[in-house]
Amino acid sequence: ALTIGIVGLPNVGKSTMFNALTKNQVLAANYPFATIEPNVGVVPLPDPRLGRLAEIFGSEKILPATVSFVDIAGIVRGASEGEGLGNQFLANIREAEAICQVIRAFSDEDVVHVDGKISPSDDIDTINTELVLADLQTLEKAQPRIEKEVKQKKTDAAVLEAMTAAQAILEEGRTLFQAMGDGFDVEPLSELQLMTTKPFLYVFNVDDDILADEAKKDELRALVAPIEAIFLDAKFESELAELDEAEAAEMLEMSGQDEAGLDQLARVGFDTLGLQTYLTAGPKESRAWTIGKGWTAPQAAGVIHTDFQKGFIKAEVVSFADLDSLGSMADAKAAGKVRMEGKDYIMADGDVVEFRFNV
Ligand code: GDP
Repeated sequence: ALTIGIVGLPNVGKSTMFNALTKNQVLAANYPFATIEPNVGVVPLPDPRLGRLAEIFGSEKILPATVSFVDIAGIVRGASEGEGLGNQFLANIREAEAICQVIRAFSDEDVVHVDGKISPSDDIDTINTELVLADLQTLEKAQPRIEKEVKQKKTDAAVLEAMTAAQAILEEGRTLFQAMGDGFDVEPLSELQLMTTKPFLYVFNVDDDILADEAKKDELRALVAPIEAIFLDAKFESELAELDEAEAAEMLEMSGQDEAGLDQLARVGFDTLGLQTYLTAGPKESRAWTIGKGWTAPQAAGVIHTDFQKGFIKAEVVSFADLDSLGSMADAKAAGKVRMEGKDYIMADGDVVEFRFNV
């Protein structure tokens, strides 16, 4: 599943946000394969299409796509010096497909800031610097090994060239992800699992009055542009997570927000990684499955089961929009909207699919 690693300075509200994330125990119970780990929170990706599908197919259950968040504690100023970042930290962050920094923008004087003052832009720089330094260290450490491998012709010389170029970028204080936006190719470096090659997300943990203050939010947005900023009140989110669905919706409306912060986080995370979903539906369940943009039908089938991919024959596909407006599979078929697609078919977001396969 899609995993986003959460980083941030101490006392910015990571644990508070994480508590809200991990209160989704109902969800975990619906996903038998999802082991509940203390540092992992699973959030359903809100998808109104599933409710409609469940209505059409009489499904007992709705299973949305999910986004997992892993709490990556341990990043502080100077973390990359001295003992360096711990092995557990590195393992956690490497497994994440994107990195989400939580930034303190709430004012509470009772909560001490590690650097003595609340400054979102300094906090962003601090974490950025630590990640950049950690990547520089990784490159430095790998250098002798890669040089040897290139001499032995086990590794392409292009890897060394890319390493030198990456070093220069990082020494300017830029992340490799920023450089990728300007055309830097990180492919030769993939084995090194550099942290700053991952897409970034920024969450501002704000006082509730800022949630409705567009001018203030624009100020904060400017700090991270062109990356989309997410605003939430971690304390409010953890209270929201205690409530049942109807109560939570009511409390959200009273607060003047049209989307819970955690839902927004799941949605932006999903978009940032360029993902999409396709749908399956039947009397047992209506379900969304996560795939990348441009994936073929057999690749998509493999998300359900590797056997579906190996034995793929064809896919019966109807777009959600057609199914929604026609109201049933029988009517969609009668209208010629249900297609048989082969192994080269490129999936579209919202395809409702039934795979045919050999076992
Ligand atoms: P962490 O060190 O980043 O995990 O931060 P915590 O989640 O432990 O939060 C540190 C302190 O800030 C705790 O006392 C929280 O109750 C408080 N806190 C967290 N989020 C908010 C918030 O949105 N508003 C206010 N006023 N306090 C918060």
